[in-house]
Amino acid sequence: MSQGRRPLIAGNWKMNGGLDEVDSLAGDLAGRMAALDGPPAFELALCPPFPLLPMIAARIEESGIALGAQDCHGAEKGAHTGDTSANLLAEVGCAYVIVGHSERRADHKETDDQVRRKAEAAQAAGLCAVVCVGETEAERDAGRAVAVVVGQVAGSVPEGSTSRNLVVAYEPVWAIGTGKTATPQDAQDMHAAIRAALGERFGAEAAAGIRILYGGSMKPDNAAGLLALADVDGGLIGGASLKADDFWAIAEAVR
Ligand code: PEP
Repeated sequence: MSQGRRPLIAGNWKMNGGLDEVDSLAGDLAGRMAALDGPPAFELALCPPFPLLPMIAARIEESGIALGAQDCHGAEKGAHTGDTSANLLAEVGCAYVIVGHSERRADHKETDDQVRRKAEAAQAAGLCAVVCVGETEAERDAGRAVAVVVGQVAGSVPEGSTSRNLVVAYEPVWAIGTGKTATPQDAQDMHAAIRAALGERFGAEAAAGIRILYGGSMKPDNAAGLLALADVDGGLIGGASLKADDFWAIAEAVR
């Protein structure tokens, strides 16, 4: 990663965690942050399920760990039963919100257009939108991976995005929760293609400041290789973020 982009290691807890379990996980990580000698080389973020946000916010207060949510609605407020506004997420202490995760694109049929509106709402609320993109295995096998992902970036990333309000997460769908990981070469090629697409839209200087995370079975044993790549600026971590030792080992793999 480049000197100017502080690597972000974000844990996506998905629909996991009971109260005791997450309390001890967040407390453990906050303790590890407090025990560091100086400022870490990475930024850590935790993205728990909605009901846990205030509790985790309290647990990580003043630890330097950022809070993130896993989704938001595209509207500011209104009659949207079961949804949560970006404004409320900001009020409970979120700095980040994941939008367009492939599980939401699949389970809830979210389109690029909807994802872009969610990202816009997040940015308008002062949050940093973590916009997820990634190809399926069939799309990769058909040689369409770059076209698909660049198309998702075009459709899902709002106009006027900056390094402060946008993070892109490249998460090949076939690598999420499967134990399969993109090769370093494939990951670097895709991240470079995403940065080039951002550069065409926002200018090379702006694109050079936007963090692009890799996600998809990142673990302690493959993190260092992925995080060392020129255009990989951190990780969005699912399964391994539920174990303090593994999540911390990934963060420490940042050099
Ligand atoms: C994710 O869902 O964002 C993810 C990367 O999951 P995992 O690390 O478990 O593959």
